[in-house]
Amino acid sequence: MDLKLSPAEEAFRQQVATWMKENLPPQWRRDRFEVFPPDDDTAAIFRQWQEKLGAGGWLGLSWPKQYGGRGATMMEQVIYMAEAAAAGAPAPLDSMGLNMVGPALIEMGTPEQKQQFLPRILRGEMVWCQGFSEPNAGSDLAGLQTKAALDGDHWVVNGQKTWSSYGPWADWCALLARTNPAAPRHKGISMLTVDLKTPGVTVRRIKQINGKAEFAEIFFDNVRVPRENVIGAVDNGWGVAMRLLTYERGVYTMFELPRYVRVWQEACDYARTHMRRGRPLIEDPAVREQLAQSYFDINIMRLTNLRYISGYMKGAAPGEESSLMKLHWAAADQRVYDLAMALGAPFSLAMRTSPRTLSEGSWNADYFYSRTITIYGGTQDIHRNLIAERIYGLPR
Ligand SMILES: Cc1cc2nc3c(=O)[nH]c(=O)nc-3n(C[C@H](O)[C@H](O)[C@H](O)COP(=O)(O)OP(=O)(O)OC[C@H]3O[C@@H](n4cnc5c(N)ncnc54)[C@H](O)[C@@H]3O)c2cc1C
Repeated sequence: MDLKLSPAEEAFRQQVATWMKENLPPQWRRDRFEVFPPDDDTAAIFRQWQEKLGAGGWLGLSWPKQYGGRGATMMEQVIYMAEAAAAGAPAPLDSMGLNMVGPALIEMGTPEQKQQFLPRILRGEMVWCQGFSEPNAGSDLAGLQTKAALDGDHWVVNGQKTWSSYGPWADWCALLARTNPAAPRHKGISMLTVDLKTPGVTVRRIKQINGKAEFAEIFFDNVRVPRENVIGAVDNGWGVAMRLLTYERGVYTMFELPRYVRVWQEACDYARTHMRRGRPLIEDPAVREQLAQSYFDINIMRLTNLRYISGYMKGAAPGEESSLMKLHWAAADQRVYDLAMALGAPFSLAMRTSPRTLSEGSWNADYFYSRTITIYGGTQDIHRNLIAERIYGLPR
């Protein structure tokens, strides 16, 4: 594959860079790429920024033109991400709507659902969350217990969801609920779109160890949801959910690369400028070896991403390669934060609010966040199972 940008891609890169320069207010600039806003004030900025992106036509890059998107190639999306990160742009708050719910509606939604939601997602007016996991249904998602029973023209929903990312700021939820308790586990589930302002919905924040609170538990107590709010066929929510998760798995390693490169660079700078036992940290062979390891990790990840994109653009279906990428990336991410924390000890232990904290608290917060990477989007064990069964053809 050719790693150079084509003339058209280079022109696109310049177009993004110019737009960012002209439209990103300096006070909204982020020194680092953050997937989740650290607090409500920052969330409000992320939301305003997403509306600005919508007005500029930069949301839904990959969506087909007939639905208001740009029909951008995956390479253009990666170029966009790199330029947005370089400009210090906040992330749009509606990652779920743009990357998962919107594409699922385009593929499986009714004409009315498309009309109701797609333009609003593209204008940046909405924030979605995903209501899949429950206290007793994570890896074993098909064990979910939240129920939706038909009563006239409405589904009546009862149950509890947990770990809903963006939940504290979300307007709508893509909810998995059991609509046919008599059917086999995977077959009696439907995906409903639920307005979180409906009576009976309670959204409760989950405070995390890194001081942030981007998750919510969501409780449903006799919540009445219009009958037509089902994505795909009734009782076929499992298929819709699996499709939605492939959109998620396809994008996250690309989105997170800038954050990872940044911490590696900061760790190098720190090791050059700080002493331990009378000599610069960078002269310690163990430190050098770990920095080198992370440099290899980054480049393996970058090249694997490019190979994946290249295959995808030539028509290959996204396959189990995304499981390999996830395994590598999760381990690499945790390694680089382990190193940053060790280099900066004891100040790396101080949180964002402490005057002694390092890198505005991001090493500390992101170290804890890096522990989650082996869990979300399928745990490491689940991805190993997928690789074993689908790549190596091993028995279950
Ligand atoms: C950052 C983050 C964001 C998230 N965002 C969302 C969201 O927006 N919406 C949402 O619905 N959920 C979300 N989740 C929840 C996430 O999907 C679940 O945490 C995940 O599926 C694991 O489920 P669990 O926590 O119940 O762990 P469990 O499934 O109980 O797993 C516990 C342990 O058992 C292992 N294990 C389980 N089954 C097997 C098996 N078959 N073979 C081998 N080992 C196994 C796991 O690998 C793990 O080590 C998020 C989680 C995180 C960390």
